[in-house]
Amino acid sequence: MTTNRNAIVPKPIRRVVIAGGGTAGWMAAAGISKVLGKRLDIKLIESDEIGTVGVGEATIPTLLNFHGLLEINEQEFMAATQATFKLGISFENWRAAGEDYIHSFGSTGIDHWTAGFQHFWHKGRERGLAGDYGDYCLELKAAQANRFAHLPKSGMNYAYHMDASRYAKYLRKFAEGFGVERIEAKIARALRDPASGDITALLLDSGTLVEGDLFIDCTGFRALLIGQAMGQPYQDWSHWLYCDSAIAVQTEAVREAVPYTRSIARESGWQWQIPLQHRVGNGIVFSSRYIDDDAAQASLMANIDGAVLTQPRVIKFQPGQRQQTWTGNCVALGLASGFLEPIESTSIHLIQRGIVRLMQMFPTDGIFQSDIDEYNRQTTTEIEHIRDFIILHYHVTNRRDTPFWRDCAGMEVPPALRRRIDLFADSGRVFRVPNELFAENSWVQVMLGQGIHPRQHHQSADLMGDDELHGFLAGIKGSVDRTVAQLPGHEAYVARYGSSN
Ligand code: FAD
Repeated sequence: MTTNRNAIVPKPIRRVVIAGGGTAGWMAAAGISKVLGKRLDIKLIESDEIGTVGVGEATIPTLLNFHGLLEINEQEFMAATQATFKLGISFENWRAAGEDYIHSFGSTGIDHWTAGFQHFWHKGRERGLAGDYGDYCLELKAAQANRFAHLPKSGMNYAYHMDASRYAKYLRKFAEGFGVERIEAKIARALRDPASGDITALLLDSGTLVEGDLFIDCTGFRALLIGQAMGQPYQDWSHWLYCDSAIAVQTEAVREAVPYTRSIARESGWQWQIPLQHRVGNGIVFSSRYIDDDAAQASLMANIDGAVLTQPRVIKFQPGQRQQTWTGNCVALGLASGFLEPIESTSIHLIQRGIVRLMQMFPTDGIFQSDIDEYNRQTTTEIEHIRDFIILHYHVTNRRDTPFWRDCAGMEVPPALRRRIDLFADSGRVFRVPNELFAENSWVQVMLGQGIHPRQHHQSADLMGDDELHGFLAGIKGSVDRTVAQLPGHEAYVARYGSSN
């Protein structure tokens, strides 16, 4: 062990204190204790009285990587969290009232090295040889058919819907097994070293001090450490992301659980439906500039089915991001670090990315400013790409029926997004930026789904005659259809595979 005088915190980091025990806190505790726990003393402080935000139940496939790292047993996890499978998101009424599309987790068709599959599909459409773009994607067709199974070899790309509070409890057991100490208490405030500004300890309501070397702020929207103690500024993105409020309510399931999240555009926002094994998570996300809480709640309650199990709960948020999510000896994860909005279920993914990045740059022998800068640079780049992808959903729409949708369509979007939209509209081309979460096929599905029709396709597609193109497209579609026909129903599969009954 060495300590380094060039470090801004020139001492070994052994005592890690996690403030907050929601999804972010327990994911951090589980990940860090599993990978680095032998060398660390990890404490997590959470307050039952304050509780967690209680939403965040739809995930994306990267969660499987995190579970792989933790060596989590999938069947046990699904039973513990009442999880179902998720193959994508159904966007209903987004392009226009009455029109739907699915953004699936699968790849669509087969790419050529010069050109993505969308160019061949585009040519096929022009020649009357192609069906819907989604006809060439296994995950999408399986979602539409309400079917699921783990397939051998390449399999299907999937994620989960899960009960967020059960997930935190599940991870708690896991983390405690790896030595994490849980403290049930309310944190009054963070104490800082007057010279360095670093946090030295958390003062609990009881008067107890919990000292540490590295503090991870997982206190949700309160942002007790990164915001209140460290004063790290917040970048407000509400000029691009208009939604700043949500109302959540749980209902009994009255129909079969589908393997996709439903996202239904409403007058001034959108409604979610997340089917779990034991209930359905519902909510409406909206902009308080265009609709008040009462009207939003009325819209939500008029559009849910099944007995209501919980009181509707209003959640306010400011779309944006902490300028730096790591400052001094404080790293923020989850809602404490920022929140865009729930549309593409990216928040839990970002927690996971933050944890993995922190482990990659773990400051074992002292904290270097260069590590902090690199961590923040990677975090910002990653979030800005996701932000742009989310803005795309609102901005590219044929809806002009309410002030909300008219303003979304008319807004000036970030320049990088403008370039991507123009490129796709002109030529059908999309390029994934290095380390970007959403790959080309996600951009294509959403841009086509939201109503952009590229003016032309790549000339590679013209090298195929009609017969060859027809054979190519029909071959892919036939293979997708045959596979889907062999899959069992989603709910029956979950009942056999991942149920606690
Ligand atoms: P919280 O769950 O709020 O946890 C904060 C913790 O800090 C709690 O344990 C609390 O007790 C503790 N705490 C706070 N103050 C104190 C104190 N003074 N003393 C002690 N403890 C304290 N993400 C997705 O990936 N998919 C989704 O589908 C999705 N949907 C969402 C829908 C909505 C409407 C919202 C608002 C968010 C959604 N998210 C979603 C985001 C997701 O909910 C969060 O990323 C996730 O739940 C993590 O929250 P958290 O742990 O940061 O905060």
